[in-house]
Amino acid sequence: MSKTSTDPARSSVVLRRQALSGPGMGSRWSALFYAGGNVDEATLTRRLQGAVDRVEQQMSTWLPDSDLERLNSAPVGAWVKVPRDLTHVLAAALEIGRLSAGAFDIGVGDLVKAWGFGGGSRVPDGEGIAALAGRSLFEPPKTLQLDHTGQRARRLAPRRLDLSGIAKGYGVDELARVMTEAGMSSWLVGIDGEMRAEGMKPDGSPWTVAHEKPVPGEREILGVLELSGAAVATSGSYRHRMEVGGRMLSHTMDPFRGAPLESDLAAVTVLAETCMAADAWATALLVRGAKDGPALARRLRLSALFVRTDGEVEATWH
Ligand code: ADP
Ligand code: MG
Repeated sequence: MSKTSTDPARSSVVLRRQALSGPGMGSRWSALFYAGGNVDEATLTRRLQGAVDRVEQQMSTWLPDSDLERLNSAPVGAWVKVPRDLTHVLAAALEIGRLSAGAFDIGVGDLVKAWGFGGGSRVPDGEGIAALAGRSLFEPPKTLQLDHTGQRARRLAPRRLDLSGIAKGYGVDELARVMTEAGMSSWLVGIDGEMRAEGMKPDGSPWTVAHEKPVPGEREILGVLELSGAAVATSGSYRHRMEVGGRMLSHTMDPFRGAPLESDLAAVTVLAETCMAADAWATALLVRGAKDGPALARRLRLSALFVRTDGEVEATWH
């Protein structure tokens, strides 16, 4: 087993920085770590890839045979057997939905599809949009029911569930679990900018993550976040957008308006213990906006960084 030390000269093992990566969740996963020479990279890569693949197979709306899509295509009211991880993420999503008063809403699947995000055609579907516009979707008790002991779920309304605002973060937590189980104590794992880190580097410094300026098309750095025993995720109206009739549409939906979010925030970054929470809260606080978002973050003691569209920055570190 490798040993980390704040003083490399005193360490009996030479720690080497290693990097692994692979495809997953419409992007790539990565793992950076320091370890001695005895790491079986092929096995570790296989286990990390397996963890990401499993999350994708359970929670993707892009794979027609995912467990989530099985739930989405089952008749309303019919119980469907769901794996433990999916039940866990669905429960967390409903809870964050409740705490954010409906800003985080996994019932936005129809909206996402109607506006042409989330697979299939990228041309907004006029009829679908008209039918959904102005409808507040937030009715969690009426959306989904979970049976934890029976490991089942059932939809209570004809509404497509979408976990894309939380599943990637959970995927990062699964990467973290594999690293811990492999006995690693100094690592940084991530999927597409959502990251989680543990331990310090051998020189005693923390892992750092660059915080991009939320400007479309630019990749400038706003600052650097230090991460140890924590996760970070960012949601922004500046990425993953689509142009329709000269307007840029966000892939984050405003559940209260039934339309793509038009926000006074350019981006929200959340630091949390798990990447699942960071991911979902970044989306939720973005939807809440520049006034409500920071107030809610303070009330719930969430560490978040809000970048407004006018460039002003507000932080609620806890
Ligand atoms: P990214 O994929 O850039 O990390 P997010 O974590 O913000 O983005 O997730 C955005 C995805 O979440 C959308 O593509 C959509 O599938 C889903 N989504 C959109 N609006 C909401 C919402 N209000 N609540 C929950 N999920 C949402
Ligand atoms: Mg998110």
